[in-house]
Amino acid sequence: MSKHYDLISIGAGSGGISAAERGAEYGKQCLVIESSKVGGTCVNIGCVPKKIMWNAANLAHGLADARDYGFDVSNNGLNWSKLIAQREGYINGITDWYGNYLKDSKIDYINGTARFVDAKTIEVNGEQFTADHIVVAPGGYPVIPDLPGADLGLTSDGFFALKEQPKHITIVGSGYIAVELAGLMSSLGSQVTLLIRKGHVLGSFDPIVSQTLAQVLQDDPNIVLLSTTEVETVEKNDNGMLTLHCTKNQQVNNVDALIWAIGRAPNTADLNLSAAGVEMDKNGFIPSDEYEETNVKGICSLGDVNGKAALTPVAIAAARRLSDRLFNNMPDRKLDYSNIATVVFSHPPIATIGLTEEQAHNSHGDTVKVYSTRFNPMSHAFTEHKAPTAMKLICIGAQEKIVGCHMIGPGVDEMMQGFAVAIKMGATKADFDNTIAIHPCSAEELVTMR
Ligand SMILES: Cc1cc2nc3c(=O)[nH]c(=O)nc-3n(C[C@H](O)[C@H](O)[C@H](O)COP(=O)(O)OP(=O)(O)OC[C@H]3O[C@@H](n4cnc5c(N)ncnc54)[C@H](O)[C@@H]3O)c2cc1C
Repeated sequence: MSKHYDLISIGAGSGGISAAERGAEYGKQCLVIESSKVGGTCVNIGCVPKKIMWNAANLAHGLADARDYGFDVSNNGLNWSKLIAQREGYINGITDWYGNYLKDSKIDYINGTARFVDAKTIEVNGEQFTADHIVVAPGGYPVIPDLPGADLGLTSDGFFALKEQPKHITIVGSGYIAVELAGLMSSLGSQVTLLIRKGHVLGSFDPIVSQTLAQVLQDDPNIVLLSTTEVETVEKNDNGMLTLHCTKNQQVNNVDALIWAIGRAPNTADLNLSAAGVEMDKNGFIPSDEYEETNVKGICSLGDVNGKAALTPVAIAAARRLSDRLFNNMPDRKLDYSNIATVVFSHPPIATIGLTEEQAHNSHGDTVKVYSTRFNPMSHAFTEHKAPTAMKLICIGAQEKIVGCHMIGPGVDEMMQGFAVAIKMGATKADFDNTIAIHPCSAEELVTMR
């Protein structure tokens, strides 16, 4: 006889674990099935290892800046193996904690690949389980292009498995993962080629941040930015290095690591969704309504796989609200997807919330008023390495309600969370103006813009 659960989560990433965790808090019987590692993308091959590398890169900048402040320090090189060992040790600590947490919370866990048998039944490792509610949260995977030699390259997954620091890394892509990897590897001392198909990076972001970052990348002596270029073939040479043959007869030579960062696709191939009648869109995402329900009653899709907003806190928040609704008599509980703040851990970082200027004009026309500022932060007033800062507030209507905030510069990553609370609450420009500045810091510019 197959065991019956209140909830089965497919995927032990941010979404799947959080739904089961909240369900278990309400005394429900939950099962989590994971084909790889507990913690999913964020913990093992996403946010967490990326942020550790970003921290290391910031320290490298700090060492350089320290000299300009009069310290007698020198950067004698990075011990890559030590950094990776420390990083992986930290991650293992998190995944061990998760394993114990699941046991302590009486959440059943199975390591294996889940597939639907029907709308109420899941098979894993040859066993079948049924549930009242099935949460599909299998996340996504990085896409590799279909061109000769593409498999000589890695993805962000492979980047985090590199045992040695590449001397010359080529990153293909213009999204947030591409610019993050480019910035941190340049800061850590690798030569970086960033190859982008169109003319700009971070195309969906407000130009104040994307154009400022593009200039920083162009000015970085460790980075070669090749724009409006596409790779056509990749070839491995006798010395083990790669050569990239690109459009316009361009070549990138002596590449010892090639990273494809051209996008992610939903992880739905193994799920046998048709057995349950669950519909996917043309890109393989599993659409869900505002309550995260798919087209099949009792089956929800959460996190990256529903294609709404591919961010860890979004998956967690949606999952917790889902279990509140299902198991705690809160029929209207759902996630409000508007005004989600996010950070790109580039060098310098970018923080953004709400509408871009173009989006604001499209939806609010002439009622839009924009405030912006650019400056060199005091921390970098006399350092050789500069870190430009730019900020934009987008307001609408007579009240000048703030509907967008876009920042790039040192510290904006930590600055945004508090401002996001105010903007989510409906703050106006006058509310910002009435807030006394903290001096001297970059954040004060946000409450003193004219
Ligand atoms: C390089 C990188 C950096 C990132 N940085 C950030 C960041 O700074 N901030 C941020 O908010 N987000 C970041 N993200 C995005 C974030 O990691 C994802 O949005 C988040 O992990 C999504 O959670 P999820 O639960 O939808 O899926 P995942 O965390 O991907 O978990 C899905 C799990 O399901 C498992 N699975 C798949 N199919 C099956 C199956 N059939 N049976 C069983 N298990 C299955 C997978 O192995 C996986 O572990 C980053 C992502 C990447 C790749």
